[in-house]
Amino acid sequence: MLESTRPHQVVIVGAGFGGLATALGLAGAPVAITVIDQRNHHLFQPLLYQVGTATLATSEIAWPIRHLLRKRREVTTLLGIVSGVDTARRKVLMEDGGEQAYDTLVLATGARHAYFGHDEWERDAPGLKTLEDATSIRRRILLAFEHAERETDPELRAALLTFVIVGGGPTGVELAGAIAELAHQNLPQDFRNIDTRLARVVLVEAGPRILPTFTPELSAYAKSALEALGVTVELGRPVSQCDADGVVFGDQVLRAKVILWAAGVRASAAASWLAVEADNASRVKVEPDLTIPGHPDIFAIGDTATVNAWHGRPVPGIAPAAKQQGAHVAKTIILRLRGMTAVRPFFYRHAGNLATIGKRSAVIDFGWITLRGHFAWWIWGLAHIYFLIGVRNRLAVALSWLWIYSTGNKTSCLITQGEKKSPALREEEALQE
Ligand SMILES: Cc1cc2nc3c(=O)[nH]c(=O)nc-3n(C[C@H](O)[C@H](O)[C@H](O)COP(=O)(O)OP(=O)(O)OC[C@H]3O[C@@H](n4cnc5c(N)ncnc54)[C@H](O)[C@@H]3O)c2cc1C
Repeated sequence: MLESTRPHQVVIVGAGFGGLATALGLAGAPVAITVIDQRNHHLFQPLLYQVGTATLATSEIAWPIRHLLRKRREVTTLLGIVSGVDTARRKVLMEDGGEQAYDTLVLATGARHAYFGHDEWERDAPGLKTLEDATSIRRRILLAFEHAERETDPELRAALLTFVIVGGGPTGVELAGAIAELAHQNLPQDFRNIDTRLARVVLVEAGPRILPTFTPELSAYAKSALEALGVTVELGRPVSQCDADGVVFGDQVLRAKVILWAAGVRASAAASWLAVEADNASRVKVEPDLTIPGHPDIFAIGDTATVNAWHGRPVPGIAPAAKQQGAHVAKTIILRLRGMTAVRPFFYRHAGNLATIGKRSAVIDFGWITLRGHFAWWIWGLAHIYFLIGVRNRLAVALSWLWIYSTGNKTSCLITQGEKKSPALREEEALQE
């Protein structure tokens, strides 16, 4: 492992929204920074569902971390999987046996989807978190249409053309709307033996309404907007069974060959690396200044941490929160290096909640005002383009949207790579060998 000669070593694990904001906030500080990530790219997760539903290409929403930080001579970027922290020796431990020394450590390792004690469901109901997840989901969706085109058994064909999305939060709503548009508007001309307009898209939400973090009025609007796109919204019954043939919720058995999981998150293993208290989603309970209790030299931020810094409520697991925390930590590190050691509590500033329903409608809850419909969609679109990194990507995404929305042609309908295997499936196969 490379040892830096600079006096104060800051190690940032995770170059997502939180980790990157920390690195950017430390520009000009007298520190040597090492950014470690298990992937070589920073990912704009809010548009991941558009890769999964064949609207955008992978390169439009992800950037090599090394390239993003190329002008920062004091930053070293390392590709590797962190598997622990030795707090006594102040070393980050890597899965391959490597170590990285730190004076200050920032853990920004995010979260993954949670299956509420049914990890075996991941094989048949993949979640959406990484680019691999997105291309794997895209593959499943497109293959279902391909197989249906050749299928002669009407029941099996119907199952192939039934798409179930579990979880009515923003990701579930966005996936359901996009799949319905793909099936009902974009693909009908491309197939001869099937009518893709007959595809069923079913959104299953255990709670009484979709988009529970929005106002009840916006939830109701989103439900009717989804229904107008041809989505069936099932409320109030949690999924109790899930396999390769379909799902069971309440007393309903639904045969489906494509099931997507958008319900619940579980934080990274940061809490167990440090053997500290976590909440029921495995998020590290951090101090008001975002440090780990008993470890003032270690910060945990973003989706892997929890802190009641939003007027006494937990900070939500969204990108702006992770960015604000990253910037706060950078500022704290700089002030500490100047000898100012007073605790600096973090306060979250909430800008609003946004979710899109297909390509013509969105809901926005700014707190002081709510918006819905086409106008809201334009604000949603502009906001997402603004938050993308780099002019090229902003232009590329804007052009892709313009092209798709004016012609209805999706150019990213590519079935690439083999099926992504979950860790559980890989383990199972290894045992059988
Ligand atoms: C599909 C989807 C849609 C979303 N839509 C929105 C939205 O519309 N608006 C919004 O505000 N938020 C949205 N979010 C949430 C938002 O993306 C997260 O809140 C945000 O990414 C959290 O930032 P983070 O830095 O904590 O973690 P992340 O951005 O997830 O970054 C974590 C980083 O840590 C790395 N990492 C993890 N474990 C290790 C390890 N052991 N070793 C090395 N590296 C590791 C990962 O590779 C990753 O790069 C969405 C999330 C998803 C999944």
